[in-house]
Amino acid sequence: MKRVVVLTGAGISAESGISTFRDSGGLWEQHRVEDVASIEGWQRNAGLVQEFYNQRRKAMIEARPNEGHLQLVRLEQYYDVHIITQNVDNLHERAGSKNIIHLHGELTKACSERNHNYVVDIEGWELKHGTLAPDGGRLRPFIVWFGEAVPMIEPAIDLCEQADVLIVVGTSLNVYPAAGLIHYVPPKAKCYLVDPNAVAVQRKVTIIAEKAGTGVRKVVDELIEDATKN
Ligand code: NAD
Repeated sequence: MKRVVVLTGAGISAESGISTFRDSGGLWEQHRVEDVASIEGWQRNAGLVQEFYNQRRKAMIEARPNEGHLQLVRLEQYYDVHIITQNVDNLHERAGSKNIIHLHGELTKACSERNHNYVVDIEGWELKHGTLAPDGGRLRPFIVWFGEAVPMIEPAIDLCEQADVLIVVGTSLNVYPAAGLIHYVPPKAKCYLVDPNAVAVQRKVTIIAEKAGTGVRKVVDELIEDATKN
């Protein structure tokens, strides 16, 4: 089976009602990124950070996977599909995708502020501020904040190096090292980019200038046709 690597960003969850990073009116607009997505913000006001992620977890639980997430599951009958997502929501999992790497952490989990390898599942939407891990550190959202290491980048690079097809969906390719992954995909691989807005990309790609729902369906239809022809 040929390998398809899918790099997704906030845009794939937009049609599920979860706001993207730069959307107007979203939660991100009401808070400065440095206040809610950095270790300095956590040290300044951990209660605000917990509340911000509690609200995002609540929104995630109320949201449902959309056509974009669901179409990618369909592809698994024909290809070895691996999703590398920058998203912290669980909509790919709930759609039924099997192989998912979360580069920037997961809203459903918490870790100790002293040891990020101590990870626990969060029941429901609320992580109570001040809850302690067994090592005495406070439990914090299991999110990779700006300036923190991205441990999952190595397995993601390995997957990209073995890709026959790359599909990029709903990411502005502004956040590194995630944005650099496309350069590890072999030059002969087919590349598609699904986004209703223009995205600067430094390699040859087939642009599908549509929202994830309709755009991913088009790419998946084409790839399934290719697979069944051969
Ligand atoms: P981004 O906000 O920088 O870019 C979103 C991209 O999605 C844009 O290019 C936009 O044109 C596109 N888009 C908007 N609506 C779309 C739709 N319906 N279909 C397809 N594309 C659409 O997001 P990013 O590149 O993922 O980077 C932002 C960072 O913020 C990431 O690190 C991510 O972890 C985080 N984030 C995650 C979520 C989530 O988990 N759902 C939401 C917001 C932000």
